[in-house]
Amino acid sequence: MSVLEILKWPDPRLSTPCIPVGGIDEEVRRLAADMLETMYAAPGRGLAAPQVGVTKRLFVMDVAWKDGAPEPVVMVDPAITWRSDEIATGIEGCLSMPGIAAEVARNTEIEATWRGLDDRPQRHRFDGFAAICIQHEYDHLEGLVTFDRVSPEERQRLEAAYSAVLA
Ligand code: ZN
Repeated sequence: MSVLEILKWPDPRLSTPCIPVGGIDEEVRRLAADMLETMYAAPGRGLAAPQVGVTKRLFVMDVAWKDGAPEPVVMVDPAITWRSDEIATGIEGCLSMPGIAAEVARNTEIEATWRGLDDRPQRHRFDGFAAICIQHEYDHLEGLVTFDRVSPEERQRLEAAYSAVLA
């Protein structure tokens, strides 16, 4: 396994809608393992394939490891199949936009389907931080980042702050 380079916004690959992974082969398994290692090293709790330059519909997450035992999850070709009416706003960081904390509105509960590395279809409901994390990572697969989820005024403010971080 190896730690991969995490692309920084505005790399165009972060704004590219991703294509389905399809069949799960050794290359996909290696990519997922490298992405988990990269996420833990960052350190972060979620990482999507386009953030390491692979514009395919796959992300990894672990919402537990910062507070206890690791619970790595790999979602291949995920879909969000249901969203709660209830919305909550929270602060989100992103490994591709270091130093930026954006206030983003998300559904508080979702249902997602995906395939694991064993190719078996999964379906599960999520709430709390996991629901937020999945919506954030799923956005990456659609070519969206937190900047795309805030008002134009807030985006302008965040982009100015980000330029200062990069300078
Ligand atoms: Zn992100």
